[in-house]
Amino acid sequence: MSVFGKGVARICAVVATPSAHEFRKLVRQAARETPTVELRLDWLANDRERHKALDWLKRAAPRGANYIATCRRRAGGGELPGGVSEELFWLMKAREAGCTWCDLEMETLRELPGKSVAGYALPPKVMLSIHDFRRTPKLPARMKVRERDGVDAVKVAAMSQRLSDSLRLLRAAGGTRRVVAVPMGEIGLPARILSLREGSALVYAPVAAATAPGQVPLGDLKELYRAHALTGKTRVYGVIGNPIEHSMSPLLHNAGYVAAKKDAVYLPFLVENLGEFVELVAELGIAGFSVTIPHKQKILRYLDECEPLAEKIGAVNTVTVMRGGKLAGSNTDYVGVLKALENKMQLKGSRVVIFGAGGAARAAAFALAKAGVEVLVCARREEAARELARAVHGGVIPRRALRREQFDALLNATPVGMHPHAERSPLEAAELNCALVLDLIYRPLQTKLLRMASGRGIPAASGVEMFVAQGIAQWELWMGCRAPGAAMRAAVLKKLRLEEKSPG
Ligand code: NAP
Repeated sequence: MSVFGKGVARICAVVATPSAHEFRKLVRQAARETPTVELRLDWLANDRERHKALDWLKRAAPRGANYIATCRRRAGGGELPGGVSEELFWLMKAREAGCTWCDLEMETLRELPGKSVAGYALPPKVMLSIHDFRRTPKLPARMKVRERDGVDAVKVAAMSQRLSDSLRLLRAAGGTRRVVAVPMGEIGLPARILSLREGSALVYAPVAAATAPGQVPLGDLKELYRAHALTGKTRVYGVIGNPIEHSMSPLLHNAGYVAAKKDAVYLPFLVENLGEFVELVAELGIAGFSVTIPHKQKILRYLDECEPLAEKIGAVNTVTVMRGGKLAGSNTDYVGVLKALENKMQLKGSRVVIFGAGGAARAAAFALAKAGVEVLVCARREEAARELARAVHGGVIPRRALRREQFDALLNATPVGMHPHAERSPLEAAELNCALVLDLIYRPLQTKLLRMASGRGIPAASGVEMFVAQGIAQWELWMGCRAPGAAMRAAVLKKLRLEEKSPG
């Protein structure tokens, strides 16, 4: 058992706010979720707010929680303007207010007489913390905690510049249950979610929204990723891309695992170097992964086998790890396009324009052609349009013809109009002469293109149905059973609608 307890107690909610008033609200909120709460006293705006916050903590804080007081100096990457004596003053005040733990930086310990906390009325348990905000330093294979310094746990928080850094940090922390590993940054995020399973004593999560890349808000860490419940038996999946921060795939897949009670987790991997990721698939125990921009084409060269259709499309969005670690590629964007259109129009015998000739356009073109659609490709690079049209036995349509001709449907397969450039549209209103417009973009739900189509009385469909359908197809491929599609779709729509209400 970790020195902080077991189960949810190993998730530490972080309260970091400038106002004592907000502090009270956040502490109450945190204590409802987990009995381990870090209080970032250095974040409070000034000494007055710190006094107010600690007075309240002493009188009225929820009982039964383990409060960890942290008052990090600016020199150590915190917000406290003073020196070591100010830091110690506030930590001693925190003890009076009922904090059972404190976080003390290595730099502070080094400045104490005899490099020991003996003689200071600090909270009874001390976590010694070591930070490296730039990189992951050299680490012993297994870190040990020396109790003779009056230290009860050690925390190492280090920036991950590559995935292997974060794994190295987890390995060093594993085993003792007194070492806390915090792989920092967006690259370190998957390792952070897996850190409890790998033996870290604690994982941190902000109560409110994340304040830095690589942080997962408390609600998501507990409910969506279930970080405290992951074990060696949990199947690990994920999505690779760059950027990946705004991917909805973790929400889609994890919502499915929660609804279907599957012991599986799906993580977002920010992957710059595809080769490095592929090499670590076995070490991470990954059973399958989704692939997004910019790796959908490049991943083909790392595969041991590939579904013929995905090979023809030239893009893979799904990789399954087979027995012996072999990688098998497939494409579910194909299924997604058909699902998005099947209830909205009669596909067989229709004429559909695809605007764009990239990966998604290719998946759509192959899917539609196979469903008996006459595919017309319109792209700014004529050669790309011709090549795709040839591959699906379709035609090329020049942009100027869009104003004159009538089509059964038009698909936008370019990223023009996607968040954060929602004010843009790939086409003008006069170019929409069709019975249906499908925008493959799903963020925002209502793109400018779709609003223009509705303005002309044309039924308009968001790419969200395609996104959900391609994800469900992956989920079913990996889990080998029917996906809880309604729950997965509802989770994604809820988030997108919330975003729409409060953009930015
Ligand atoms: P991609 O491979 O990069 O292809 C993008 C295509 O758009 C290329 O043909 C590109 O032309 C064209 N394009 C880019 N900017 C343009 C502009 N200003 N004017 C005209 N054409 C332009 O990207 P992708 O993977 O196909 O993705 C395209 C869109 O589909 C993205 O918004 C993506 O989010 C969406 N998508 C949605 C789903 C879903 O499930 N709903 C799935 C996959 C993709 P050049 O080659 O000349 O640059």
